[in-house]
Amino acid sequence: MSKILLIYTGGTIGMTKDVQTGALIPFDFSRLLEHIPELLQLHCHIDTLSFKIPVDSSDMNVSRWKELGGMIYDNYVAYDGFVVLHGSDTMSYTASAISFMFENLDKPIIFTGSQLPIGDLRTDAKENLITAVQIAGLQEKGKPVITEVGLYFEYKLLRANRTTKINAEHFRAFQSLNYPELITSGVHLKVNTPFLRKINRKRKMVYHTHFDTNVVIIKVFPGMNASIITALLAVKGIKGVVLETFGAGNATTKTWFLDAISALIQQGIPVINVTQCAGGSVIMGAYDTSVGLKKLGVISGKDITTEAAVAKLMYLLGEEMPLNVLKTIYETSLRGEMSEN
Ligand code: ASP
Repeated sequence: MSKILLIYTGGTIGMTKDVQTGALIPFDFSRLLEHIPELLQLHCHIDTLSFKIPVDSSDMNVSRWKELGGMIYDNYVAYDGFVVLHGSDTMSYTASAISFMFENLDKPIIFTGSQLPIGDLRTDAKENLITAVQIAGLQEKGKPVITEVGLYFEYKLLRANRTTKINAEHFRAFQSLNYPELITSGVHLKVNTPFLRKINRKRKMVYHTHFDTNVVIIKVFPGMNASIITALLAVKGIKGVVLETFGAGNATTKTWFLDAISALIQQGIPVINVTQCAGGSVIMGAYDTSVGLKKLGVISGKDITTEAAVAKLMYLLGEEMPLNVLKTIYETSLRGEMSEN
């Protein structure tokens, strides 16, 4: 029997309507379990933990990532798998951050949530939660099948640091356009074995907790004003920039833009090029409009999502290393968050 730790951080899954305002607010976790007696039928032993103050995921931040990471780390040896209930709005960010916090993870950490509260008649919470627990408990020859951070929503387990929330109302709220699903849930759980993260069991899990939040995401757009990007240079304490560019990593070739990017890099500030497209990869040099960025030493985010890109940048800045080392490590897949080539 697998031992699973279920951690509630907040989110719609455990929310109820405020009688005064009609807005959804988190409620006491112990009541959440009253709604799903089905969990007792699973062949798992489930213990639960909750954030002292559950939050809407818009209020997640680095200290809450650490609170969650700490709950998993403190219980790492005692459990076979972890299920994290989290609001869907920023689930991809938190799950990406957790993937960087746990190096050489050899157990499943499965994030899930729902679009409708658990008490709602048409809720998607039950299926999401029950299957997430089942997946966290999956074992083969006494070893966990999943040894990475996953995100389960609407019949699919995805690699969490490859996901993006793509819909605010459909039950199918997440997509992973650059990496295949890890498990499809139908009559059976169909495991896509070749795409699961392989681990080296000789390597010990290493827990990382340093994140540097002095970063910014800049989305370029046609007609962007020079003053916006040059203003960045004046921002005190800025340590890293994620630049969301067009298509395969392209941006304006105007001198003011390239000069500003160059000045940032000269100051030792890493600039990461990620695409605004939902799928596909940055290939700097493929178009003339990215040649300048490549020459300046802009770091390629390849096919990483913006969510994973910002978490990875905060993580690597937190580890403190010279810019050239950060560039090399950033362009390497650390937790399966980007394609290798
Ligand atoms: N606003 C909610 C949250 O992210 C939405 C959800 O739970 O899906 O916490």
